[in-house]
Amino acid sequence: MVENIDRNGDMNGDLNDFDIVMGAQPVQIVATDEEEHSFTLNEDLLEEILVSDERLRDKKVVVISVAGAFRKGKSFLLDFFLRYLDRKDNPDRWLGEDNEVLTGFSWRGGSERETTGILLWSKPYLCTLPDGEEVAVILMDTQGSFDSTSTVKDCATVFALSTMLSSVQIYNITQNIQEDDLQHLQLFTEYGKLAIEESHETPFQSLLFLVRDWSFPYEASYGYNGGEAILGRRLETKPKQHNELIQVRNHIRSCFDKLACFLMPHPGLKVATSPTFEGQLADIDEGFKQNLRELIPSLLSSENLVVKKINGLPVTCRGLVEYFKAYIKIYQGDELPEPKSMLLATAEANNLAALASAKDLYSQKMEKVCGGDTPFLAPQELERRHEKYKSASLGMFHTTRKMGGAEFSREFAEKLEEDIGDAFINFVKLNDSKNIFNAARTPAVFFAIMVV
Ligand code: GDP
Ligand code: MG
Repeated sequence: MVENIDRNGDMNGDLNDFDIVMGAQPVQIVATDEEEHSFTLNEDLLEEILVSDERLRDKKVVVISVAGAFRKGKSFLLDFFLRYLDRKDNPDRWLGEDNEVLTGFSWRGGSERETTGILLWSKPYLCTLPDGEEVAVILMDTQGSFDSTSTVKDCATVFALSTMLSSVQIYNITQNIQEDDLQHLQLFTEYGKLAIEESHETPFQSLLFLVRDWSFPYEASYGYNGGEAILGRRLETKPKQHNELIQVRNHIRSCFDKLACFLMPHPGLKVATSPTFEGQLADIDEGFKQNLRELIPSLLSSENLVVKKINGLPVTCRGLVEYFKAYIKIYQGDELPEPKSMLLATAEANNLAALASAKDLYSQKMEKVCGGDTPFLAPQELERRHEKYKSASLGMFHTTRKMGGAEFSREFAEKLEEDIGDAFINFVKLNDSKNIFNAARTPAVFFAIMVV
């Protein structure tokens, strides 16, 4: 799977020691078992990428996902995303040198089979928003083939996961927006209806139809303008249309904050057919390169980054792991999940994320007054602080917007109290160990003190 393990970034915002441990590379986070049609999440790798680095774990996350069938140039495109993220300080040159080989996500010609699943670039990029806040940008490559009935469910699942987990979903399609491209969105429109009823928030953020090899520029021009015209036409409802088609169209709009379409020209024959082509800019049509220069900053420049939100609240790297876990669970059965269970999983994950942040608040406050580096604290004072921070933590949990209603959240609030109780016991033990008089009661320490 891993083909470009020697890509070493050395630009701003790189996490270099992380690179050395992992090697920046595409890693498979979700894999399908082709016979069982079941999914596995590689939790260890996911945590390694999103949680192990303390500079990242509490940063808000921007998740850019490119989804669609195999061999349609997704990885090829993602490699230019990487170039932009690595070199954006050089606005005229980031696209690369004329004869430079293109590396990153592996891409290739031919038509051998590949596995369905979700890949992440192992190195999140730290980028700064215009207001100065640092966020982590994650690139996701999602693929499947929609060509045989046995794999349709797998692909719909992968597509659903990437829509639910990304802040910008790029739907990579070729030549045109077809009816079945829209049908893949049906499941979300159902889920979306429920989610909107529940929380009044738009469930998803940005969906970009990226049409490759657009060949009617005289009908609609390349780029966003022509794309808008085509998308408008495809989403138009007509009186004669089947009711279901009308519904899908009406709901697609209400499910996403932003819908857009970008028409890409054909990259040229060398890219499409040459067995020796290695991604050199010199062999790519000028029109394609020009459109890359427009498309990529429109997604990745600082002012265009979209932080992932669920239920209207920003998601951190750590939070994203919870959502991955919750969503993968509901896709493990034989059937496509009911929109209801998608909603429940979302509610569970945002309660878990709220619980984790509230617990963090308690631990951090306590750590400051009675952590490892602080002196002994009188027990009454320790108790007083505990009560104060516990109530701040519970307050934070209760005021964080969550889905599922008050009854659903109660269980999580109880778990939070329980976890705080356990943490307090440990803080008491730690505090006791700092009390020289207490410590002196244990013979070994007593002896040590006597000797000194
Ligand atoms: P993926 O499976 O969707 O990730 O596709 P790849 O990125 O591996 O690319 C598959 C093949 O399509 C490679 O031979 C690329 O050179 C070629 N390719 C890349 N972009 C385009 C494009 O926009 N149009 C066409 N026709 N071919 C492309
Ligand atoms: Mg690929």
